[in-house]
Amino acid sequence: MKRPILLHPDPRLKKLCTPVTDMTDELRSLGDDMLATMYDAPGIGLAAPQVGVLERLIVLDCVKAEGEAPRPLIMFNPEIIASSEETNVYEEGCLSIPEHFADVTRPAEVQVRWIDRDGKEHTEEMGGLWATCVQHEIDHLDGKLFIDYLKPLRRQMITRKMTKLKRELAREKS
Ligand SMILES: [Zn+2]
Repeated sequence: MKRPILLHPDPRLKKLCTPVTDMTDELRSLGDDMLATMYDAPGIGLAAPQVGVLERLIVLDCVKAEGEAPRPLIMFNPEIIASSEETNVYEEGCLSIPEHFADVTRPAEVQVRWIDRDGKEHTEEMGGLWATCVQHEIDHLDGKLFIDYLKPLRRQMITRKMTKLKRELAREKS
């Protein structure tokens, strides 16, 4: 089931999310809902706070090549346990900040640890788009958005435009 995606600025997107301690069916179906919401958007990653849930859960699938099998990942309590010194620049976007994109520099490779829906721990080295995406999503769990890496002026400009967009959307609804 698709869930509505919160748009920046929203106080829930600035919050530190709490670790998942007990795996429940509710959390498993939240993971499924988040994947459905992400694919529908369409996007390559989504974090729980973006659907208003302040727990440490992200989903991603960075397979973009035509004909390649999808690789949906549901990650509970994801953590970066090592980062490369080498960096990479990607033009990032965010489903909570639609239609705004900017270059962000991050470590090119990261080692990530997480718990899957069955409570099993995984560790994996990620590179390329996967590395960027997983770092972007984990940032969400710490209340951080990709625009927080930009110069204040640029960030304020995007926030102003988003505030205006949200006002227009609210007006359309009423
Ligand atoms: Zn995002």
